Amino acid sequence: MKTATRGVPVVAIVGRPNVGKSALFNRLVGTGGEGSAAIVSDEPGTTRDRHFARADWNGQVFWLVDTGGLVDDPHTPMDVEIRRQVTEAIDEADLLLFVVDTKAGLTPSDRRILDLLRGSSRPWLLVANKVDDPSSPDFYEFYELGAGEVIPVSAANGKGSGDLLDVVVGRIPESPPEELESLRVAVVGRPNVGKSSIVNRLLGEDRLVVSDQAGTTRDAIDAPLVYHGRSLVFIDTAGLRRQARVSDGIEFYSSLRTRRAIERADICVLVLDAVAGLEGQDLKIAALAWEAGRALMIVVNKWDLKEKDDKTAAKFEKECAEKAPFLAWVPFVFTSATTGQRVTRILDEVLKVDGEWHKRISTSQVNQTLEALVARRQPPQAQGHDVRLNYATQVEVAPPTFAVFGNHPDLVADHYVRYLHNGFRAAWGFMGAPLRILLRRKAA
Ligand code: GDP
Repeated sequence: MKTATRGVPVVAIVGRPNVGKSALFNRLVGTGGEGSAAIVSDEPGTTRDRHFARADWNGQVFWLVDTGGLVDDPHTPMDVEIRRQVTEAIDEADLLLFVVDTKAGLTPSDRRILDLLRGSSRPWLLVANKVDDPSSPDFYEFYELGAGEVIPVSAANGKGSGDLLDVVVGRIPESPPEELESLRVAVVGRPNVGKSSIVNRLLGEDRLVVSDQAGTTRDAIDAPLVYHGRSLVFIDTAGLRRQARVSDGIEFYSSLRTRRAIERADICVLVLDAVAGLEGQDLKIAALAWEAGRALMIVVNKWDLKEKDDKTAAKFEKECAEKAPFLAWVPFVFTSATTGQRVTRILDEVLKVDGEWHKRISTSQVNQTLEALVARRQPPQAQGHDVRLNYATQVEVAPPTFAVFGNHPDLVADHYVRYLHNGFRAAWGFMGAPLRILLRRKAA
């Protein structure tokens, strides 16, 4: 059975400890080196984590998850941990790879996992690892489980991994095309900062809810609403609820959910806790969204709990920009989901940021600005060459991207590119939008 999914599908590797889950994960996604099967995407903002990676096999893209993240707590019985790990994977993934160890044979733990899988509605595959020689009959005993096809692999030498990937991509759902008319908004941030409270408040405003048709109810994965005539979709609100349910959930799933949400979004709304301030994890999420070219705004929530005077908000923003300069180009809204203060301002800001993200500057204006910048400061000479920039034009929106043409595009110093960035920002703003500059060789 193919399940409906939104976005890039998730494939999770499950199994008891020591069957070779991580070895298989590494073998399947590798680093593009010898013997690694699938190619890890190098799209910005989607680099791999210890527990998951974006893989591409014959053009079918998916997230592969290694669930070997067992909490090393001697007080929790191993089988309880395995159960939790498998249950979470069933919740999160579109397909599970159940790995067993051919050298060790079937164990009671394997049978318990099998029961969990059989009781779920998720599709899964039985993968017999440590079959270093595929012609050996070692793995036949697993047919006795009556689980259908057994796929032999060797994570150690890579045998069978290509065949396994062929089966995997045949089983995962295809990503349905995204609704392009709606503005897709992802509310992201660390657990407990108030994401669900904010989304619930926005959706709880009855006038904002579109309809109760199938697929658009509040229980759906994505929650649509209309604001000032624009249709917006809050993506993966189901994920927010799930996170609230399993508060001690395995953390990498929340990190994976964040990446999937960013990948599907036009605009990322990063929620911070006003009292905790901007932490390393927040910054990482902001950078992921920015590097992936998404529009970004920051909501500083729980503002009711913050001791403040009339300068506190400005000071908060300034401190954030000191930690990460690009945040100077991101709008901030200070809210309280508890009292409702300024929560609908988030929607005003989302529409504004979308406008900036899609803003187009005429070529004549771009060239005027470039000329003025170059007149004020010439690009430095490099390797005895005169470096000249001749003209520029905006080649893309969402994110705004400028091509700047010159005689030696590869010799333009990084600090000079930053100078151009700042000059373009000063001229046109683009608040909330990452801005890209491409240096190109001038046509002869
Ligand atoms: P999420 O994990 O980011 O979705 O966070 P939740 O929405 O579940 O909120 C976490 C906790 O913070 C809950 O107990 C909320 O009631 C509380 N909370 C959320 N927003 C605010 C706020 O603006 N002010 C205060 N005082 N508490 C809040």
